[in-house]
Amino acid sequence: MIPYGRQSITDEDIAAVVDVLRSDRLTQGPVVPRFESAIAEHCQVEHAVAVSSGTAALHLACLALGLGPGDLLWTSPITFVASANCGRYCGADVDFVDIDPHSLNMSVPALRQKLEQAKKDNCLPKVVVPVHFAGLPCDMKSIAALADEYGFFVIEDACHALGAEYNGEPVGGCTYADVSVFSFHPVKAITTGEGGMAVTNDAMLAERMTALRTHGIWREYEPERPWLYQQMELGFNYRMSDMQAALGLSQLPRLPEAVARRRQLAEQYDESLCGLPLVTPARPAHYDSAWHLYVIQLDEHASCSRLQLYREMTAAGIGVNVHYIPVHTQPYYQARGFRYGQFPSAESYYERCLTLPIYPAMSRDEQQQVVSVLRRVLESSG
Ligand SMILES: *Cc1c(COP(=O)(O)O)cnc(C)c1O
Repeated sequence: MIPYGRQSITDEDIAAVVDVLRSDRLTQGPVVPRFESAIAEHCQVEHAVAVSSGTAALHLACLALGLGPGDLLWTSPITFVASANCGRYCGADVDFVDIDPHSLNMSVPALRQKLEQAKKDNCLPKVVVPVHFAGLPCDMKSIAALADEYGFFVIEDACHALGAEYNGEPVGGCTYADVSVFSFHPVKAITTGEGGMAVTNDAMLAERMTALRTHGIWREYEPERPWLYQQMELGFNYRMSDMQAALGLSQLPRLPEAVARRRQLAEQYDESLCGLPLVTPARPAHYDSAWHLYVIQLDEHASCSRLQLYREMTAAGIGVNVHYIPVHTQPYYQARGFRYGQFPSAESYYERCLTLPIYPAMSRDEQQQVVSVLRRVLESSG
């Protein structure tokens, strides 16, 4: 089976984790801040807060920005459910902005239009979560301009986009966002097993997220009570362990070559799929995708269905996937009042999309196998 994504673990990675196992501290210890500094340096951002998952990072970012009951969070319907759920964890209501059918990211014109209406209806969002789908950065400059105009916070869900660049700057620099969030799940650009990171240039937000990841406890040194710890608000245990941080720290230096390899595989796919009845990913100028996913869409000339393609490719040992079922069509969100037809671009994309395998260790042979099965299915049914 050729999987759709796969982690790369070297002997050095294993040795780095074993070193922690032989040390005194397994849970959050000296390696976590080293990993945080390394990510901050990579992103050219001031503060980084390591946590137990990308989902935890999204949750803490929402809490630190003061999102709560009565507030609204908007995100894209084409994302993993966590980008929306983080608003629900805080008791806020969630709504969606339809995607741009070309970039597959949140549509800026749709966002502007929805904001204009929301201003009239007095229901502007407190937080907007753009998602760099498949690793392609969103139009952050335009989103930041709208944030200024309408007064909302921006949490960049960059879980697909570690290693991507926007206008020559690394994603995560927070030039256009209050907080950016990464995941280190094994299918992502680098892994810590499970893990995540929130980065920001705002010292107060970093301080709040740091307290909230460990029960809402703030430590201040008082000579009369040197043992002092004070819980100031209700936080969580969202800490990352030193074992996880050691793995991430060992993986991070290989990020540039991993992204370069993904880009090369994407270019080879683009070339090999030329002439087939499908749409390949957009490549806007000045946006360098991290190529977390390589997603194709069947076009109107395809004579086989997505289901047929999915079945035949899976049967041939090719781990294709669908990213994503639009979040507003999930039973949980349907029960909260969302309906099919509300976000037509997202829904029409979903009907036709298929994710092909892409990961740094993928060989040319494996890729050719994917392409030849895809060709066979599309041409035999055509
Ligand atoms: C992976 C992912 C998350 C969640 O990250 P976890 O580390 O699995 O909690 C959130 N948003 C997007 C877009 C993701 O791909």
